[in-house]
Amino acid sequence: MAVKETNIRCSFCGRDKQDTLVLIAGLSGHICDQCIVQAHRIVKEEQDARKNQSISSALTLLKPSEIKKHLDEFVIGQDDAKKVLSVAVYNHYKRIGQKAPKKGAEDVEIEKSNIIMVGQTGTGKTLLARTIAKLLNVPFCIADATVLTEAGYVGEDVESILVRLLQSADYDVASAERGIVFIDEIDKIARKSDNPSITRDVSGEGVQQALLKLLEGSTVNVPPQGGRKHPEQKMIQVDTRNILFICGGAFDGIDKIIGRRMRTQTIGYSAGQENAKIDRDNLLQYIVPQDLRSFGLIPELIGRLPVLTYLDPLDREALRRILTEPKNSLMKQYVRLFDMDNVKLSIAEDVYEHIVNKAMEYKLGARGLRSICEAIMIDAMFEIPSESKIKTLHITLDYAKEKLGKAKMDKLKVA
Ligand code: ADP
Repeated sequence: MAVKETNIRCSFCGRDKQDTLVLIAGLSGHICDQCIVQAHRIVKEEQDARKNQSISSALTLLKPSEIKKHLDEFVIGQDDAKKVLSVAVYNHYKRIGQKAPKKGAEDVEIEKSNIIMVGQTGTGKTLLARTIAKLLNVPFCIADATVLTEAGYVGEDVESILVRLLQSADYDVASAERGIVFIDEIDKIARKSDNPSITRDVSGEGVQQALLKLLEGSTVNVPPQGGRKHPEQKMIQVDTRNILFICGGAFDGIDKIIGRRMRTQTIGYSAGQENAKIDRDNLLQYIVPQDLRSFGLIPELIGRLPVLTYLDPLDREALRRILTEPKNSLMKQYVRLFDMDNVKLSIAEDVYEHIVNKAMEYKLGARGLRSICEAIMIDAMFEIPSESKIKTLHITLDYAKEKLGKAKMDKLKVA
């Protein structure tokens, strides 16, 4: 006997067909639009829970020493920073994976371990943050603090940082919420002076204030600018509670602040002894949060960046190692590039020394190594692909000097 249409009901909630928007027929039942929405939500929750579980279980496999070992493969030196970062990152992801406390147990809330790294430009701050993000396979973005301004002023709002993170997570909000954000040049938003000025400091203290809510963890409405994937969506809500923020800055002149503080601190009966141990060439290693405050960061911001570490300046030996030792060192990249053209590239030892000397002479730091190498290699890289007979290329010191002479390296010289 045919069932009358008015008697068709949702097999899940029992709603009558006329009370539903759509009622979809299955093999032996029906489901209404509202039950579909509800079921979809349950499935989504389950998917998110599984994702979180797999993220935290993958992350807990990595102990701080393992994180550091991985960093060692890509970053030369900077042992203190690596150690501090490895522990901070380990604790951060342990905090994310934290299960609810057992009944009766004390609920200890683990605070976020946002990090601030102080060190000259080109010493590996960005490289460290990027290497960690890659290792953990979490979304990563770099934001430049100099372009940020207080909301409503010309420049970018702090929320723009999260837009970039969302983009790097392919708009997967749950995964972006576990990502790492590297905020570069944080020193450039230091308070301009200690005197409150009559004009507003919209790119300095104003930005520091605006960053607070992002760093401590809150739900932020993010406009998906350029987000072609969600044109219909006005705002995306991002919870920053589990996003790890790593800030970096050169803090030019902070060594003088550190030196001054240490001088005043060591005036006392043990002064002579203490002073003897101070390494005056690298005062950054003695940095404490108070120095950041003297430099112009507001205490609230410093409080939200509880892990403070420093990077050593790169000396001749470090630059030499950077050329060949990291897993994807410049030289290994050139060897690989030539190898793809079936050419075996070799480089004389004194060429490395020469490259390092030039980088030191021009004060280019590690970043300059690449431009020097390019200048040496460019002719070979241009010509060799069309010379099928050449199977080996040996770079001698004379060859390197000739190419560098041609390349007008003086243009790169830093005054
Ligand atoms: P910054 O401290 O200004 O963030 P970066 O991390 O961007 O410096 O370093 C610039 C480049 O210099 C890196 O991409 C890398 O090639 C090289 N470099 C800098 N420091 C190191 C280091 N300690 N070990 C290996 N390479 C380095």
